Amino acid sequence: MRTLSDPTILVSQCFIDGAFVGSPALDVTNPSTGETLAQVPDLSAPEAEQAVEAAAVAFPLWAGRTAKERSAILRTWFDLIMAHRTDLATILTSEQGKPFNEALGEIDYAASYIEFYAEEAKRVAGEMLASHRADARIMVLRQPIGVVAAITPWNFPAAMITRKVGPALAAGCTVVIKPAPETPLTALALAELARRAGFPPGAINVLTGDAIAIGGVLTSHPKVRLVGFTGSTEVGKILMRQAATTVKKVALELGGNAPFIVFDDADLDAAVEGAIQSKYRNMGQTCVCTNRIYVQDAIHDRFVEKLVARVAQLKLGDGFEDGVMQGPLITEDAVVKVEAHIADAVAKGAEILIGGKRDPRGRTFFQPTVLTGATGEMTLAGEETFGPLAPVFRFTTEDEAIAAANATDTGLAAYFYTRDAARVFHVTERLEYGMVGVNTGLISTELAPFGGVKESGNSREGSHHGITEFLELKYACIGGL
Ligand code: ADP
Repeated sequence: MRTLSDPTILVSQCFIDGAFVGSPALDVTNPSTGETLAQVPDLSAPEAEQAVEAAAVAFPLWAGRTAKERSAILRTWFDLIMAHRTDLATILTSEQGKPFNEALGEIDYAASYIEFYAEEAKRVAGEMLASHRADARIMVLRQPIGVVAAITPWNFPAAMITRKVGPALAAGCTVVIKPAPETPLTALALAELARRAGFPPGAINVLTGDAIAIGGVLTSHPKVRLVGFTGSTEVGKILMRQAATTVKKVALELGGNAPFIVFDDADLDAAVEGAIQSKYRNMGQTCVCTNRIYVQDAIHDRFVEKLVARVAQLKLGDGFEDGVMQGPLITEDAVVKVEAHIADAVAKGAEILIGGKRDPRGRTFFQPTVLTGATGEMTLAGEETFGPLAPVFRFTTEDEAIAAANATDTGLAAYFYTRDAARVFHVTERLEYGMVGVNTGLISTELAPFGGVKESGNSREGSHHGITEFLELKYACIGGL
C-alpha cells in the first residue's frame, strides 16, 4: 500500500457499537499486483446479531435528534471524506484496481451523497390532507423505517455505501453495512471518519466475514426493517426471498445489460466518446456500463473505425501509473468470463477488431476489446460481461433497435445518440429502462434517481426520491375536534 498522509484511516477491524473489533483473518488483495494489503476479521452470525442490536438501541436516540443535528453530523462526515479524498482514493485503487483518477472521482461522487442528504434531512415533511369529517383531521407523518442493512459490491467500494447510508442516516435510521469481501478497507476507512464526525455508537456498523451467515441475520432479524443491496441479480433474489419471511422492505440495485444505440443522425465523435466512457469506465465493471452497442447501417463502418481508434489509445496498467485508463479486473475469474463471451461470439461469427486477449501483464489484465458482427444469439447479448468488451450490432430501423434493446430481463441503464428532437422523446419513452442517457454516456449523479426496472431492481438512490425509501408514512386520524 502506498503511504497515506493519515495512516490512521487504514483500519482492518470491524466497527460495531462504536468500537473497532475482531482479529485479522481474511486477506484483502491488490488485484493489480496480488499483494496482500491487510487482513480483516472473519465475523459471522453472532457478531451480525450484536451489530443489529447495537443499531436497534441507537435507533431511537439517533431518530430522536433533530433533523438539523443529524444534518450537521452528516455534513462533518462529508467534510472529513473530502479532506481525506486522496488517502481514500489510494485505499480504493489499492484494493479495487481502478485508475487513481477514477478512484478520486468515486470518492467525490460518494461524498456527494452524504452532502446532498445532509441537506435533504432538513426537508422531510409530513402533510395534512382534506378530512372526511368536520370533527377530524388527517395528519400524515414521515418517520424513519428503523434499522437498515446495506450489503454492497466491490465495483464502487465507497459510493455504493454512501448512496444507501447517506439517506438512511439523514432520515434517522441506523445502519449495519456488509461491504464486499474484495473491498472492505474503503468501507472501514469511511467508518473511522464517521466515528470522528460524531455519529453516536451503534448508528453505523461495518461487518466483514461470512457473507451468507451475516446476510442470513440481516435478512431475518426482526429488528432490521429494510435491506438495501447492490450486487448480482442472483444474490438479490436470494436476499429478497429471505427478507420475505419477516416482510422487510428490500431496496435492490441489481445487474444491467445496457444497450447503447447510435442512430445515423448522431454526432459520431460524441457517440464514440460516450461509448468509451460508458463502456470502459472501471474496466467495464459497472452495472450501468454499456454491454451492447447498436449502430445503424449508414454509419456503422465509420463509427466502428473511430471506436477502434479510440480504444487503441486506452492505456492499460496499474491504477497508480500516470495516464492509465484501464486497470486490472477484480479477479482472474472476471477475465475468464470475458474470454468465454469472446470465444462464444467468435464461434458464432463475430470478428475481433482490437484486443481480444489477456494483456502480457497476465493475471487480471485484459485488453480492451471491440467485436463486430454481434447477434442476439450470442451469450454477450443476454448476459452482462462486466469487463472491457464492446460488441457492435448492426441495425436498420428504429423499431428494430428498440426491440433488440428491450429484449432482456433487465432494465437499468440505456443510452442513445441522435440529433432528432422527436426521436429523443419517442425512444426515451419506449426504452424499458430506469435510466436513459441521451447523447451522453455518463448519467450518475446524486441529484437524480438512480435505479432500474424489471430484474434490475425496485428502488431509487439519489435525489429527493432516495430518502423516501427510508421513511414510513404514518396516518393519524385526529378526531373529537
Ligand atoms: P458480485 O458479482 O458483484 O460480487 P454479489 O452479488 O456476489 O456480486 O455480491 C455483492 C455483495 O453481496 C457482496 O457484499 C457479497 O459478499 C454479498 N453476498 C453474496 N452472497 C450473499 C448471500 N447469500 N447473502 C448475503 N450477502 C451475500
